[in-house]
Amino acid sequence: MSARKATSARKRVYFFGDGQADGRAGMKELLGGKGANLAEMTRLHVPVPPGFTISTAVCSVYQKNGGRIPDAVKREAFSALAKVERVMGRRFGDADDPLLVSVRSGARASMPGMMDTILNLGLNDATVKGLARRADERFAYDSYRRFLSMYGDVVLEIPHERFESRIEARKAERKVRLDVDLRAEDWLRIVREFQEIVEEHSGRPFPQDPAEQLWGAVAAVFRSWDNDRARRYRKIHGIPESWGTAVNVQAMVFGNMGDDCATGVAFTRDPSTGDKHFYGEYLKNAQGEDVVAGIRTPQPINRASRREGQSQLPTLEQEMPRAYQALVRIYRQLERDYRDMQDIEFTIENGKLWMLQTRNGKRTTQAAVKIAVDMAKEGLISREEAVRRIDPHGLDQLLHPTLDPEAERNVVAKGLPASPGAASGRIVFSADEAETRAKGGEKVILVRIETSPDDIHGMHAAQGILTARGGMTSHAAVVARGMGKCCVAGCGELRIDYAAGTMGVRGVTLRAGDVITLDGSTGEVMQGEVAMVTPELSGAFGELMRWADKIRTLSVRTNADTPADARVARAFGAEGIGLCRTEHMFFEPGRILAMREMILASDGPARERALAKLLPMQRGDFADIFRAMAGLPVTIRLLDPPLHEFLPHGDDEIVEVARALGRDAAALRAKVEELSEFNPMLGHRGSRLGISYPEIYRMQVRAIMEAACEVAAEGVRIQPEIMLPLITHVRELERLRALVEQEIAAVRAEWPRTKVKPSIGTMIEVPRAALTADLLAEHADFFSFGTNDLTQMGYALSRDDAGKFLPDYVESGIMPDDPFVSIDEDGIGRLMEIGVVGGRRTRPGLKIGICGEHGGDPKSIRFCAKLGFDYVSCSPFRVPVARLAAAQAAGAGEKKPRRTRG
Ligand code: PEP
Ligand code: MG
Repeated sequence: MSARKATSARKRVYFFGDGQADGRAGMKELLGGKGANLAEMTRLHVPVPPGFTISTAVCSVYQKNGGRIPDAVKREAFSALAKVERVMGRRFGDADDPLLVSVRSGARASMPGMMDTILNLGLNDATVKGLARRADERFAYDSYRRFLSMYGDVVLEIPHERFESRIEARKAERKVRLDVDLRAEDWLRIVREFQEIVEEHSGRPFPQDPAEQLWGAVAAVFRSWDNDRARRYRKIHGIPESWGTAVNVQAMVFGNMGDDCATGVAFTRDPSTGDKHFYGEYLKNAQGEDVVAGIRTPQPINRASRREGQSQLPTLEQEMPRAYQALVRIYRQLERDYRDMQDIEFTIENGKLWMLQTRNGKRTTQAAVKIAVDMAKEGLISREEAVRRIDPHGLDQLLHPTLDPEAERNVVAKGLPASPGAASGRIVFSADEAETRAKGGEKVILVRIETSPDDIHGMHAAQGILTARGGMTSHAAVVARGMGKCCVAGCGELRIDYAAGTMGVRGVTLRAGDVITLDGSTGEVMQGEVAMVTPELSGAFGELMRWADKIRTLSVRTNADTPADARVARAFGAEGIGLCRTEHMFFEPGRILAMREMILASDGPARERALAKLLPMQRGDFADIFRAMAGLPVTIRLLDPPLHEFLPHGDDEIVEVARALGRDAAALRAKVEELSEFNPMLGHRGSRLGISYPEIYRMQVRAIMEAACEVAAEGVRIQPEIMLPLITHVRELERLRALVEQEIAAVRAEWPRTKVKPSIGTMIEVPRAALTADLLAEHADFFSFGTNDLTQMGYALSRDDAGKFLPDYVESGIMPDDPFVSIDEDGIGRLMEIGVVGGRRTRPGLKIGICGEHGGDPKSIRFCAKLGFDYVSCSPFRVPVARLAAAQAAGAGEKKPRRTRG
């Protein structure tokens, strides 16, 4: 290794400033998102206050070292600080004209508001006088007291209220209401009082040495990685504990030095809808945190933002046109460079614009899709990249029902449309309550005056969030959009009384527990529940799906048991049915009785008579499903569950059913007991049932064939596939295939002109079937993996059972923490691989699909693509998710010539 490389490998502090930076955008792992992006902006010659980033590697060292920052790191930091001093023309700790810095966290993934920040660091009793000479005394002592309280709170862990109450007391003494009404001498008094609080609390005076202040603050930021709210946030968002945070130390610029100063945040496109307009808010004469905190109502930066935020206030474009124009040039440059929508923070100090942050903006799925599609059309990214950028899980948001435009709405208030979607639920006024009630299965709407990072768990548990205060970039709005939750923010007409548990609005008083509905796209708040409708795949969403379809090689089918489900799935782009479970068709009121008659029949002829009643019903169902899926394959699975599931259970029900069937209740009870399964998962069911009651499967095959012949005769192209469930042994498959073929031949003889010839295949859902797939393939035209059973049997017991009988098993991590585990190379995936390889060894080109729940799970879909599956099948609402996931998985497996879809 060369000497130069050896040095750079040990580098822990990265300078940025004046057009030069040690880091760049691609170094997020080491510099955190904020640090990497500050470096990148500096390289682009965007005006960024100079500073340096202490890498995330130091965070781990700090933790391992028992909370010590190594001297070598301090030396590196001081030499970077010297460069910052040169760029700014000020010195850290200089009593005449001091350089002040901010100290902020910055992890690899953004964690808004979760960790700590300290501003105005470097102030002490001497430097505050220098600052007063640069600005004025009031500003200087106001800055000093802000620094003291932030430092006291974050570094010395003194409760924030202790400082706040001193300010309130001073305002009361001076008989004024607002902070701005306090004068320089008031702030000086408050500074002295804050210093007393610090001394009393920590047993020593507030540190006057700027270097000591700096290291205290850096250590506190490293510690804040481990605070409760940061931990909670990481758990919800799946961010690893091991990443750690970087620390950014940066020269202060002031948005609160007078009326030609401001601070704001903006998105380069609308984060809620994705529309292409520059969108943001700012506060005049304010310091950064004031905007994000959502305490003062901010002003819009331009006309588009004013319209969206329903504001009457003047815009930045009007009030500071030169700074606004500079901002516009910079945001365009940043979007071009990052090729993504940016969330930016800026400060204007005496008319000069400074950029404090840029990052890829959080957005709703609706916005993500619109932005990706627009950017592909603008030539900023390719269509493949657009498809890659959308998280398939997020599409759920777009497929969720929205409010029925025809339904009546009892609107009681209107706020800002902060995060789209619709939600109904019971009012709760605290995050803890939201969590408790949601755990009990209730749907709740969290109603708060405003939210803070402490409310995260409640926001997560709620269906939707309603706040009385705060703008489109308030905490509630930003976090809700990140979570894909519907949110109405800044609903100023609400009068919330936490103590009384009430919310008053337009003369109505609503209480905790009352049901309300939110429309996050209009900002409307409605009393009661409002009807919802299924959305359509139109506009940008439809376009993205078409691009995905061009890329993917896996087909996507659906699991559907009814013509209605089949139609919904087809509208979502399903290319056939991968699993039609026939048992559900028997549960309808008019049918269950005939089914029970069949089960209870004392002999063959009686059973045939009962089956004859069921035949036309099944035939009708199948015919409608074939019509709904015209031109596409339809896999119909013969009866799967054990018979006792169709029989009555309780005593009352047995008596009632016996009466309806004209039978003796005691005899019926005896039959129920005889059929009841000791092990319902593996007992007398599926193929076993088909072997002992062949007339059931014969009736079903006849119904499928007659329906197919009838629909084909109408000129509809159909491709029926008959599937045998729970096959365990090759002899089961051999015998049942012969039975199915016989019945097909019988119906074909009755329809001499028909061309219908279904294929016959098997589910692979028992481990033994996977292991003996080479033998099964001799008798199967296709395989469909039933991973619902396969995963359960593969783990030997279900998670529910483990939780009930063996809680230690779950805690020990032997059973997965999440009841739904994606399939990959380990465990069940290995069984599937054996099944695929074995099956295709016997029958090259064997058609293979999956119809368990994993067929709609992006990670499992990727694995199926890798194994060379032909299709995945999932529930209708997951079809778009699967189409996108399949496109993202394209190229994951070996190249296989593509046949016709299905
Ligand atoms: C399966 O086991 O994965 C399957 C699709 O069958 P069912 O869910 O009906 O048991
Ligand atoms: Mg199954």
